[in-house]
Amino acid sequence: MGKPILLSTPHMGDRELEFIKEAFDTNWIAPVGPHIEAFEQEFSQVVGTSHAAAVSSGTAALHLALRLVGVEAGDEVFCSTLTFIATANPITYLGAKPVFIDSDRTSWNMHPDLLRKALDWRAQFGKLPKAVVLVHIYGQSANVEPILEACNHYEIPLIEDAAEALGATYRGQSPGTFGKIGIYSFNGNKIITTSGGGMLVSEDSELVSKARFLATQARDPAPHYQHSEIGYNYRLSNVLAGIGRGQLLVLSDRVAARRHNFEVYQKFLGNLPGIEFMPEAPFGQATRWLTCLTINPVVFGADREQIRLSLAQKQIEARPVWKPLHLQPLFAGCERIGGEVAQDLFERGLCLPSGSNLTTEDLERVIKAITEIHAFTDTLP
Ligand SMILES: *Cc1c(COP(=O)(O)O)cnc(C)c1O
Repeated sequence: MGKPILLSTPHMGDRELEFIKEAFDTNWIAPVGPHIEAFEQEFSQVVGTSHAAAVSSGTAALHLALRLVGVEAGDEVFCSTLTFIATANPITYLGAKPVFIDSDRTSWNMHPDLLRKALDWRAQFGKLPKAVVLVHIYGQSANVEPILEACNHYEIPLIEDAAEALGATYRGQSPGTFGKIGIYSFNGNKIITTSGGGMLVSEDSELVSKARFLATQARDPAPHYQHSEIGYNYRLSNVLAGIGRGQLLVLSDRVAARRHNFEVYQKFLGNLPGIEFMPEAPFGQATRWLTCLTINPVVFGADREQIRLSLAQKQIEARPVWKPLHLQPLFAGCERIGGEVAQDLFERGLCLPSGSNLTTEDLERVIKAITEIHAFTDTLP
């Protein structure tokens, strides 16, 4: 049976404990301190942005981003439908309403033509959204250029949710650095982690200063505690920023390891009938944060759920592709533009164990298990 093989687990490098110890030795056990500033600067260098603010989660960063571009109660925000719930929850925190946009099959991310058509259509009625939230899913950049062009045409701010795409590229540049604001996540399952944490980036220094202000209870510059706006307690801890500094040093190794997982899976499972791997779009390099594939149940002989359950019996954790937000009970009644592609990817899509710390034996076990499911179903009449 063997020990459990999990989907994506934390993978520490050699330096994180050193940075944590430094925080302890200097008693910066607080949501302020030198590691936070250093982490922000080092992160900015890595992704190629001018300004960054470290916060307590990717969700918090999204909440701040939406506030910063002026999203208010009653507004509409266009949003990728194939994503994790955290992308859209902050829209509802502000009393705004999400409108979900379907994926293309090239990158599994927001379809640029659908967005453009929806904006053209809405413009005719003077009902443009207040913002567009573009997700870069499973370590792969969306097709940013036409999406940015459509947003710029109507002067709608683009917010990039690059929580899953740190280390990826789009025409040589980091996803998350194209729009007005980008966000990243350092949750425990992401490509690098601080256990929990996030980053907000922008070329606009005022926006990032305002993000820090809102993230520290929006305290006015006065010695007494004075407040004129609603703020949040969203800053990252100096201890966790230390972990982040260590993790940044191994980011490229983590990308290489996850891409290696993908290559091994593809080599040994790619020839099985009815299995197709998530494509790598021609405009960039994906990190393969998670290795995803789709299953044609008729050709393969078992459907996604049968495969997932069979793997679970062998202590192998696989997960369905994200259930699109337009199919979530929480968002029943919300408007959507398309949705069939995302629904199909969800119904047939499976994410395999993808941690950068998987061993060759782990990969072999997963490959063997899936090959056996196919071999077994092949013997059925
Ligand atoms: C993980 C994730 C988030 C949220 O990040 P947290 O740090 O967990 O709050 C947002 N969007 C996507 C697409 C994610 O995968």
